[in-house]
Amino acid sequence: THFGFATVAEEEKASKVRSVFSSVASNYDTMNDLMSLGIHRLWKDHFVRSLNPGVRTSTTGPPEGQTILDIAGGTGDIAFRMLDHATTINRDSLTKVIVSDINPEMLGEGKKRFSTSPYMHAGRVSFLEANAEDLSAVPSASVDLYTVAFGIRNFTHKDKALAEAFRVLKPGGVFACLEFCPRLSNSLMNGFYKRWSFGAIPLIGQVVAGDRDSYQYLVESIERFPSQTEFAGMIKDAGFLVPGERNDSGELEGGWEDLSLGIAAIHKGVKP
Ligand code: SAM
Repeated sequence: THFGFATVAEEEKASKVRSVFSSVASNYDTMNDLMSLGIHRLWKDHFVRSLNPGVRTSTTGPPEGQTILDIAGGTGDIAFRMLDHATTINRDSLTKVIVSDINPEMLGEGKKRFSTSPYMHAGRVSFLEANAEDLSAVPSASVDLYTVAFGIRNFTHKDKALAEAFRVLKPGGVFACLEFCPRLSNSLMNGFYKRWSFGAIPLIGQVVAGDRDSYQYLVESIERFPSQTEFAGMIKDAGFLVPGERNDSGELEGGWEDLSLGIAAIHKGVKP
């Protein structure tokens, strides 16, 4: 607020998000597969491929590797793909990922998954418990690539998180976000999709994870997230270069990629 106090609604949101992810942590990966019919894997693969982690920008001098910060990294799905891509496609064994999340239970699942992987032993993955709105543990201009997948809609102050993303990135560094969209552009398809998400997802949550409320929250949080145009505008307002033009009503058009008819989208911005 004006006086620097969080409102009751803001505190309620933050504590709701905490309890939702603490309770879903152990079932999170299975539930993701069930709720998205496995499609989240294809979106994540595409997201990572489009960022081409570990690519060398200079052909002279020794390889340096990239520093990737995966915010709201949870169980490490994006981090794993980043390191696999850098290693197998770009033959890069130096790129490192910092998996950061506000929730220790989600990070715990990520640590468990990485514990037997060669990336852990090679020191190419580390874990940071932090709120995306305050990344004071991460130095300014130290990151090449900032990723956030299915996380930003849970943040109370998205503008603060974007400002922190801008601060920690190096000039030329890339901000990339994979997130659900509040509605599909085709209204008929949107009707089917909303019936599926509001009907089936809380029910699957109840039957499989014994937790209807958390999954009801997840569906509702998608509904409240800004449209693709609004979100592209927010990224631009944070200082990033975003491809696309402002239309007559001042909204930014273009600058993102819709996935599966706009169920999800990838937004990117470059720090000048
Ligand atoms: N990125 C992972 C993926 O794609 O599978 C996990 C996504 S999960 C739906 C959302 C994550 O956002 C949770 O792990 C949650 O703890 C985290 N989160 C929520 N609010 C956060 C905040 N303010 N700062 C950092 N992480 C947050």
